[in-house]
Amino acid sequence: MNVRNKLRSIPLYMQILSGMLLGILLGIVGLSLGAENFIDKWVAPWGELFIRLLQLIAVPLIFVTLVKGISGLKDVGKFSRLGMQTLLIYLCLITVSASFGVGMGLSVRPGALVNREIVADLQETYRSTISEKAAAAEQTQEQGPLNFLNDIVPSNIVSAASNNSSILQVIFFAILFAVAILLVPKEKSRPVVEFFDGLNEVILRMVGFIIRLAPVGVTALMAALVTDFRGDMSVFSALALYALTVALAMLVIMYAFYPLVIKLFGGKTGVGRFLRAMYPVQLFAFTTSSSAVTLPVTMKTVEEDLGVSKEVSSFVLPVGMTINMDGTSCYQAIAILFIAQVLGVDLSFSQILVVLFMTILSSIGTPGIPGGTYVILAMVLTSVGIPAEGLALIIGIDRPLDMLRTSVNVTGDAAVACIIDQNDPCRWKMKN
Ligand code: ASP
Repeated sequence: MNVRNKLRSIPLYMQILSGMLLGILLGIVGLSLGAENFIDKWVAPWGELFIRLLQLIAVPLIFVTLVKGISGLKDVGKFSRLGMQTLLIYLCLITVSASFGVGMGLSVRPGALVNREIVADLQETYRSTISEKAAAAEQTQEQGPLNFLNDIVPSNIVSAASNNSSILQVIFFAILFAVAILLVPKEKSRPVVEFFDGLNEVILRMVGFIIRLAPVGVTALMAALVTDFRGDMSVFSALALYALTVALAMLVIMYAFYPLVIKLFGGKTGVGRFLRAMYPVQLFAFTTSSSAVTLPVTMKTVEEDLGVSKEVSSFVLPVGMTINMDGTSCYQAIAILFIAQVLGVDLSFSQILVVLFMTILSSIGTPGIPGGTYVILAMVLTSVGIPAEGLALIIGIDRPLDMLRTSVNVTGDAAVACIIDQNDPCRWKMKN
């Protein structure tokens, strides 16, 4: 086996973890040799390049994922009520999870552990981005209450798509476009739907290429981070508290929130039976970090062990895999607040609401693949005025958190399948 093949046989998350350790080491060596300038000029740019690549793919990814997810509803034309119910329940769950994430991020404040001197330095480094956004926020407050509509509806889609902070406008256009596809006669829309199917595969492959570069990106980002933070340990304790906060939030959603939802709306499903049946699925999601890869296992379990009808599961689960990401939405909220706290970006109440709104929408656009969140987070950060470089803080320790949130994501999909099936099992049966 040559070196390249040997490297490829190491799982990506191990490569990323090693990249993180290597980066820390590089940073420490740089600091002790007084070579901060070298790290800044020769190492950090590779990390910035990685972030740029993530930002590069974000607009096409969100657009194509949303169009494909919504236009896929066409296949189940007979089930339009089922479609609406499913979407509504998914939206409610995502909103609760994202709000819980905001609550956790604001109450635990993991980023507050970072030494204030360091925060002041970082504020200085990113002063232009942060103050630009503060000015924009002030301006917004002076405008009327309906001004947010301007942030959602673009006057020109090309310029919206060319600006990484206009993610909402891109989402708006994508939804409009996908709904129009649904309303056009099937023979006309088929080529468009097929085109987006293929495009989705291509974009996901591109995301795959970029994520493969993560180990190099993480090494560079970590090295730069250590020199930026001058080896200050408070950052690492803040990171540890951040990881614990995320883990706790995921466990609460998985073992308290979903059981409650099943108890209230899951009819005969039964909480114990649900948790027992889901355990192997959660383990599978945990090890693969991909809800897309876990989908067949989720389907099999939901149908065979939880008795959900095939009609319901074959619609609710694939749609859920695409749009219902409760773990991801909760995680993104905590991550954004953490990065804002570390970089000393003070968020006003209305900005926190924007963060909440953005995490709800962006988790919907997150692909169900390992590390799908990085791509989206880079863009959400920019759109809420937090320097995307802040991503460097959390990428290195993301894998275990990704494993946890993927388990939550698949559990949520299964819970909704049970609820829909139990509440009106006969209504959705295919009648042809
Ligand atoms: N890995 C997650 C999933 O597949 C997506 C993410 O949050 O990165 O569900």
